[in-house]
Amino acid sequence: MAIPDDEIAQVRDSTDIVALIGEQVALRKTGQRWTGLCPFHSEKTGSFSVNAEQGFYYCFGCHKSGDAITFVRETQHLDFLDAVRQLAERAGITLTEDNAESGGWRDKAVLYDAVERAVAWYHERLLQAPDAGRARDYLRSRGYDAETVRAFKLGWAPDDWDQLAKALRLTPEVATKSGLGFMNKREKLQDSLRNRVLFPIFEVGGRAVAFGGRILPTADGSPPARDGYIEPKYKNTQETAIYSKRRTLYALNWAKQDVVRASELIVCEGYTDVIAFFRAGVPRAVATCGTALSEDHFRVMKNFAKRIVLAYDADAAGQNAAASVYQWERAHEVNVAVAKFPRGMDPAELAREDPAALEVAVRDAVPFLQFRLDAVLNVADLDSPEGRARTAERALAVIAEHPSDLVRDQYVMQVADRCRIDAARLREGLARQQRSGDGPGPRESRTATIVRQAPSNEGERPELEALRLAVHSPDRVLPRLRAVLFADGLHRRAFESIELASSATAAIDAADERGEDDVVDLLRRLAVEEPVEPTDGGDLVTAVVAQLIRQATRAVLAQRQDAIRAGTVEVKDVFEEIALAKQLVDSLEGPDAEAVERELVEWLSTEEARDAPV
Ligand SMILES: [Zn+2]
Repeated sequence: MAIPDDEIAQVRDSTDIVALIGEQVALRKTGQRWTGLCPFHSEKTGSFSVNAEQGFYYCFGCHKSGDAITFVRETQHLDFLDAVRQLAERAGITLTEDNAESGGWRDKAVLYDAVERAVAWYHERLLQAPDAGRARDYLRSRGYDAETVRAFKLGWAPDDWDQLAKALRLTPEVATKSGLGFMNKREKLQDSLRNRVLFPIFEVGGRAVAFGGRILPTADGSPPARDGYIEPKYKNTQETAIYSKRRTLYALNWAKQDVVRASELIVCEGYTDVIAFFRAGVPRAVATCGTALSEDHFRVMKNFAKRIVLAYDADAAGQNAAASVYQWERAHEVNVAVAKFPRGMDPAELAREDPAALEVAVRDAVPFLQFRLDAVLNVADLDSPEGRARTAERALAVIAEHPSDLVRDQYVMQVADRCRIDAARLREGLARQQRSGDGPGPRESRTATIVRQAPSNEGERPELEALRLAVHSPDRVLPRLRAVLFADGLHRRAFESIELASSATAAIDAADERGEDDVVDLLRRLAVEEPVEPTDGGDLVTAVVAQLIRQATRAVLAQRQDAIRAGTVEVKDVFEEIALAKQLVDSLEGPDAEAVERELVEWLSTEEARDAPV
C-alpha cells in the first residue's frame, strides 16, 4: 500500500536528521553544518556533511547524498516504504496505513511490543522469582553482579510450559510470529524458551527483537538433558519479521557509541564474551546470534567502524572462510584483524583470569592473513631443509587466497625470511599454485576507476556560488537572477528547479521525479555547503550577482565579436549596444548598482530570446 505524499513529507520534516545520522556517525558542528567521517566510504578526514535545516547529507569524497529516508534506506538496506515507516515510528507519526488493514507493518509493531514485554517479564523473573535461584547462583559464580544483570536486561525463563504466554496474554498468532511461542503437538501454545538464562537481543536502534537462551550447567557436569534428549547449550529465538540472524549483532545497540569513537568493532562468538569485554572496560564488542559471520553483518558493521577485530577462541578464528573475509574486506573497505587468545580460551574465560589481557589482545590483533599464516608457521618444522620447503608450500597456499598481489608479496617476503628460501623462487611457486587452481587464487586485482570531475572551468565558481545562495537564501537571491545567467547546462537546470519550487527540498523532489539525478546531486551538495561571506564585510549576494552578470555579458560580447569577424553582423549595427553593455558592466558595483543590474539582466534575457532557435 502506498503512503500518501503529504505523510512522507511530514515524516521527513519531523525527523531530526542530525540526531538520526548521529546514531551512526560522530558528527561535529562546524558553522551551520555538521561534519563527520563518511559512513559510505573509507576515509580519515571528515568529508561527510549534514545540513540540519534543509535535511540533507552530502559526502565530498564519494558524492553520496540524500535525506533522512535515503540514509535509512542505504544504511539499513530497506526499501523506500519501510524506511518511511521506520522514520514515522521514530517520530511518533501515525501513518494512514497503520489504521487500515494493511498487514505488514502493523504486525511488526505488535511483535516489537510483545518482545519488549517479554524482556521485562523474564528480567523480573530473574531478579525476583524463587525458581530463579539457581540461575542467580550461576550468574554470581560467573562474576555477574546485579549491575551487569540489569544493564544487559538478563532474564530467566522458568521451567514450565506456558507461563510467559499466560502472563502476557499472548494470542497464538502473536506468540508464534514473534518467536516467543509455538503450537505443540497437542495444538497447545507453548513458550519457546524454558529453563534458560536469557540474553535479550536488541536491534541497533534499541528495540528488543529476540532472545538467546543458555541452559544452566548440571551439578555433575553431565550434558543437560530432557526426556532423554541432550539439550543444546544455547537456543535462540527463530527468525521473525523483526529479527534477521544474518544481520543482527548482539549488543551493537550498547556498543555503537564506543565503536564509533574508537573506529573499532570487536566481534565475539558468544553473549558472555561480549559482556566480558564491557565489564573489562572495552564496551565495543558485539556477537553474532548463533550464526557465522555473513556479508550482511559486514554491511552493518562497516557503517560503524573500519577496523573489525575477531575475538574468537584460537581454534575458531581461523575457520572463517578466508576467501569470503578478504572479499568482504575489500567490498566494504574494512580491515579484519584477529585477536590472539591463549589456545582453548575464549574472551570470557580470559577476562576472569586477567581482564586487562582482553584489551591487549585486541590492541595486538593481527591482520586475518597474518593470523592464518602464523598458524602455519608456528607449528612448522623449520630445522630441516625438507621441513622448510613443506612449510613454504603450505604458507603459499594460505597467501594465494588473498586477492591483492601487493599484499601477497609482503607475506611472501615473510615466508622467504622464515623458511630461508629465495623470495623470487617463492613468487614462482605462488604463480604456479594460482595457475593450477589451488585455492581461489587472485580474483582480478582490478583497481577501481576513480571518476574525477573535469577541472572546473572559469565560469564555474560564480555560478556555483550563486546556486548555493539560491539554495540557502532564495528570498534574497531569486528575484535578482535569471536562468540565462548560467552558462553551464547543469547549473541552469538546477537553477530552474529552485526557481520553480517553494524550497530546496521541493526543488530536489521535483528534479528527482524528472529523473535529473545530476541536479538532485548538485542541489544536495550545495545544501550542505555554506555560502562564504566576504571578509571585507561587503554584500555577498550583490558581489555574486555582479560576477555572474559580468561573466554572462562577456560571453555575449564575445559572440558579437565572433559574428563581426565572420561577417554575419555589421559593426555599425551592434556598436552602440556593445558600448552600452560594456559601460553597464563597469558600473555594476557603482552607486546605481541595482538599476544597472536589472538593466543588464533584462538585456541578457532578450539576447537569449533572440539567439534561441525558433
Ligand atoms: Zn563518502
